[in-house]
Amino acid sequence: MKRTIRDLKNIGGNKVLLRCDFNVPLDKYGDILDATRILTSLPTIRYLNEQNCKLIICSHLGRPKGYDKYLSLFPVAVCLMKYFPNKVRFCPKVTGPVVEKYIDEMKNGDILVLENLRFDPREEENDPSFVKELASYCDVYVDDAFGVAHRKHASNYGVALKKPNAIGFLIEKELKVFEKAFQNPKKPFVAIFGGAKVKDKLLLIKNIIGKADTVLIGGGMAYTFLLAEGINIGKSIVDLDLVDEAKKILSDAKNANMKVLLPVDHVALKGEKVVKTNFLDADMVGLDIGKKTAKMFTEEIKKAGQIVWNGPLGKYEDKRFKNGTLQVAKAVAKSSAYSIVGGGDSVGAINTLGFADKIDHLSTGGGASMKLMEGKTLPAVEVIDTL
Ligand code: ADP
Ligand code: MG
Repeated sequence: MKRTIRDLKNIGGNKVLLRCDFNVPLDKYGDILDATRILTSLPTIRYLNEQNCKLIICSHLGRPKGYDKYLSLFPVAVCLMKYFPNKVRFCPKVTGPVVEKYIDEMKNGDILVLENLRFDPREEENDPSFVKELASYCDVYVDDAFGVAHRKHASNYGVALKKPNAIGFLIEKELKVFEKAFQNPKKPFVAIFGGAKVKDKLLLIKNIIGKADTVLIGGGMAYTFLLAEGINIGKSIVDLDLVDEAKKILSDAKNANMKVLLPVDHVALKGEKVVKTNFLDADMVGLDIGKKTAKMFTEEIKKAGQIVWNGPLGKYEDKRFKNGTLQVAKAVAKSSAYSIVGGGDSVGAINTLGFADKIDHLSTGGGASMKLMEGKTLPAVEVIDTL
C-alpha cells in the first residue's frame, strides 16, 4: 500500500509541495475550456489546506518550448482563488530567488501556485539540479498528478525520491478503478481510440492486443491506420513514420483475434466546403467519422461489458465535425457497460456534451490510465513510500 495524504500526520506548519495535473485545455485567449482537472484536484488541495500547512502547488500545462505566455498557469491560479478565497497567490516563476521570496512570505494555510513547470526544460529531463531546487521548497512532497504519473519527470519522480512523500486522493482513486477494471474486465471489452497523438496512442493499441475484444479507431489517428491498409486519406493528418508500425499492429491484432474497426466514411473539408464521403480524394481533409462509421461503432458499443475510451473521434471543437464524437458519447452514456473515459480532450468532450454523469469513471490521465490497463505500474507512483 502506498502512503496517502491520510497517513501524513502533524503536517500543520510544514511546507508541502503538491504536484497536480492542471493540464487543462485553454482557448486562444487563455480561458479554461474545461476545468475537470482542477476540480478533481480539489479534494486533495482542500484536505492539505485544512491541515494548515503551507501548500506550494506545481503543475505543467501543454507542451511549451521555453516560456510561452499562452501556457501560463495564471488562469489556473485564478480559478483556484474562487475555491480558496484570500488564500491563493500566483508565483510567476518556477525556480530561483523569486520563488524563495514568495515561499518566505507564506503563512500557514496559504496556497502558492507556481508557474508552468515545463517552461524549464529541466522538468522533463528529470534534471538533478531542477529536482534539488524543487525539493528545497518543501518538507513533504505529495503527488496527485495522475496524468503524468507514467513519466519520470523532475517534479514527480525526481522530488519524490528526495523527500518524505505520499499520493493524493486523485491518484489513489484512479489506481483503484484501473486495478479493478484490469484484473477483472467485464467482457466483451471494447476499446475506443481517437484523437491526434498518433505516436502515443499507437503504443496503447499495441499493448491492448490480447486484452480487449474489439477496438474502434477514429479521429486523427485513424488515417495512419487507413493508409497502412492502402486506403487513400487525402490531406488528412497522418504520421508517415508510423505507417509500418500501424500495419504490424493490424496484423498482430488479427492474429490475436481482436476485432479492429476503422472508419468507412468521413466528414471532410474540400477547400472551404464540408463534404460527406466514403472516399477521400487527394484534396480532402478527413475531420470526423461519417454516419455509417458512427452507426457501426455504436453497434459494437451496445454489445460491450466494459468500455474504455481515449480520444475524440473527430475535430469535435468545431461543431461541423463533432457528430462522430457525439454519437459515440451517446452510445457509451446509454450503455450499461462499465465505462471509463480517459484523456484531456476526451473528458472535455464528454463534459461539453453533457454526459459526464453517465460515465462510470472519467479518468484524468490518458497515457497513465492505459499503462494501468496494461497491468503496468507507474514510475512516479512506484517511488512513493509504502506503508
Ligand atoms: P486526448 O486529449 O483525449 O488524449 P488527443 O490530445 O490525442 O486526445 O487528441 C485530441 C485532438 O484531436 C483534438 O484537438 C481534436 O480536434 C483532434 N482531432 C480529432 N480528430 C481529428 C482529425 N480527424 N483531424 C485532425 N485533428 C483531429
Ligand atoms: Mg489532448
